[in-house]
Amino acid sequence: TVKEPTLGLADLPLRPELQGAEPYGAPQLDVAIRLNVNENPYPAPAAMSAELGEAAAAEAAHLNRYPDREARALRADLANYLNRTNPGIVPLNADNIWVANGSNEVMTHLLQAFGGPGRSLLLFPPTYSMYPEYARNTHTGVVTAPRAADFSIDLEAARQAIAAEQPAVVMIASPNNPTGTATDPEVLAALVEAAPGMVIVDEAYAEFARQGTPSALELLADHPRLVVTRTMSKAFGFAGGRLGYLAASPAVVDACRIVRLPYHLSALSQLAARVALRHTDALLEKVDALRSERDRLTDWLRGRGYEVAESDANFVYFGTFDDRHAVFSGLLERGVLIRETGPDRWLRVSAGTAEEMAGFRQAMDSVARDLG
Ligand code: PMP
Repeated sequence: TVKEPTLGLADLPLRPELQGAEPYGAPQLDVAIRLNVNENPYPAPAAMSAELGEAAAAEAAHLNRYPDREARALRADLANYLNRTNPGIVPLNADNIWVANGSNEVMTHLLQAFGGPGRSLLLFPPTYSMYPEYARNTHTGVVTAPRAADFSIDLEAARQAIAAEQPAVVMIASPNNPTGTATDPEVLAALVEAAPGMVIVDEAYAEFARQGTPSALELLADHPRLVVTRTMSKAFGFAGGRLGYLAASPAVVDACRIVRLPYHLSALSQLAARVALRHTDALLEKVDALRSERDRLTDWLRGRGYEVAESDANFVYFGTFDDRHAVFSGLLERGVLIRETGPDRWLRVSAGTAEEMAGFRQAMDSVARDLG
């Protein structure tokens, strides 16, 4: 190996916008109760693991060949999944779907295709902290518009920002991370009307939405510059499988196909995702359980006098604390890992199993007693 002990990152000719930057990521700590990255706490059903093992063993014999570059079979399966779970939409097919290694990569493809030097991305903070990084990595500028006190999007402020900045891309997480806030489809439609370019609605948490919260998928048929991104990381409990996707007009998919690396999605990833999709019903049963835990958690926190943002996701955002770090650290000392993110008086906690939630509640009361 090449070793030069005196040479550090600062000595390398790094691009100026990367100088001083830290790699993104929440701490991966080995504690008993991990509620910090909105993972699904339930392991895969045994039938799914068994099927995946067999399928992977069979596929292993063909790994000398490159995978299907277009991932056609998986894209058709995902279209079927969306059609089945969103009966109100104009049916989608494989041409409407794009896939990559997590929705993070899908959104990077979108920024590579539609962002770039001299163009800007409009964001609504507090929101998912990776968005500015996609922009940085693709030389896209970032502009922002504020949210209201309840974290909903302020449509008038958004319209003004769009008029003033003419962003090439508008990106809205709905439900939003870290706040859990869903955005009304009417607001989304108004933003697509106002925006001169692409509007991306990141629905990473859509399956956890409360009854009656509509998906932006319903708007796709009338809005060719709208893109809805999804992921199997959360509802499907497939974060380790790294499979994200989008639904949009076929032209948007063609744009992503231009910028993707050849064979970006491995044969094993495609296969594993297809196996997981065959177990959709068993996996989505756990979504119901997580929704109930989220609602119980909200009620419990409110009962203790905390402020809790309305959540349609598998986590809740709560506060407010004069010193949130003291609360975070107190919980960590008691074996419970949550997340310090967004406005500095708030904390985010993921919905876990009933046992994990009981552990969180107990630790939270103990921390509150300690901090007085
Ligand atoms: N969007 C949002 C709003 C998220 O919170 C996350 C994960 N934390 C992602 C996208 C990315 O998920 P993945 O790359 O695992 O699909």
